[in-house]
Amino acid sequence: MLEPQDPVHGRFTLREVVIGIGFHWEQKEDQEFQGALKLILTRGEIQGINVISVEDYLISVISSEMRGDSSPELLKAHTIISRSWLLAQIEKQDALAGSNDSYELEHRTEEEYIRWYDREDHELFHVCADDHCQRYQGTTRSHNPEVVKAVRGTTGEVLEYGGRICDARFSKCCGGVVEEFQYCWEPVLHPYLKRVEDHPDLAKVQSGDLKVEANAVKFIQGSPEAFCNTTDAGLLRQVLNDYDQSSSDFFRWELSYSQEEIASLIREKSGVDFGQILDLVPVERGESGRLVRLKIIGTKKTLIVGKELEIRRWLSSSHLYSSAFIIVKEQVKDGVPGSFLFRGAGWGHGVGLCQIGAAVMASQGYTHGEILNHYFIGASIKKRYE
Ligand SMILES: [Zn+2]
Ligand SMILES: [Zn+2]
Repeated sequence: MLEPQDPVHGRFTLREVVIGIGFHWEQKEDQEFQGALKLILTRGEIQGINVISVEDYLISVISSEMRGDSSPELLKAHTIISRSWLLAQIEKQDALAGSNDSYELEHRTEEEYIRWYDREDHELFHVCADDHCQRYQGTTRSHNPEVVKAVRGTTGEVLEYGGRICDARFSKCCGGVVEEFQYCWEPVLHPYLKRVEDHPDLAKVQSGDLKVEANAVKFIQGSPEAFCNTTDAGLLRQVLNDYDQSSSDFFRWELSYSQEEIASLIREKSGVDFGQILDLVPVERGESGRLVRLKIIGTKKTLIVGKELEIRRWLSSSHLYSSAFIIVKEQVKDGVPGSFLFRGAGWGHGVGLCQIGAAVMASQGYTHGEILNHYFIGASIKKRYE
């Protein structure tokens, strides 16, 4: 353990840290940190663990996730969910450490491969620095006074439901309807992570039951009114760090693969040779229209894959924007499609706070309390410490 002599101003730099591991923005950068550095040797690699206070960690995370010139109410809302998520995570790990409970993350049969991902795999530290947990880049970007103000102004505040800290999730863009927790992770019902129409006026939205295929098709092909249905570059920039204009269509998006591309992609990502891909059939959708189970029919193999992140992993060289998509087979010859067109909605798992929707709400004058109430039904803000 290396501790700075001056805990407030002491800084150290780690060179060539890999960020965005496995995502299309993967790259290396030098990062500066405050607090202490613990070095651990695991599997021939040196692991660096930064020991830092919750509030200082948050200043860094909010700075990495969002730009300092975002609306103050958006920054406060995001600070509270990031703090809630972190403290809930630490509580959960501490509880697990004292018990023999293990989490089942995988379900495999001849017909089905269902897997989900969560953060139970950190044992030596609370959270990792990558997108897997929350993007943490040390103090490299954390000097913005607006972010410091949002964190200091909400010190100790978390979202609570029934006296417990909420497992406050968030993603980039829900696509119009917020997904429920159990469709992305373990089959547990969280009352505050329920379906939400990302719209101020429920009477005006008619997306219907998106678990029903016909409704999902109509919804994904349409462009329903929603907080996150925006192409306002200024707003998008608030929540998309290093945002590039070339990829601004995440409320609704399209992607096309040739037969060769998709067959080799699925073979590579799943480790299973399906032969030629004959069809991709929606089996189960969640509340937001996201696919929870998808049947892949190939000339050599047929298998159902889930949940949403595994579907996104198998169908893209990095991660597909979301699993809320419909599939159009094109140039079908002798039953074999020449290409597949994906029409999709949203970016990310869509559970909890919709970052683009929240940015729009803040720009329309909603307070951070109103934003959090909109996405986390029945939850309230409580101060845990001063
Ligand atoms: Zn992690
Ligand atoms: Zn949204």
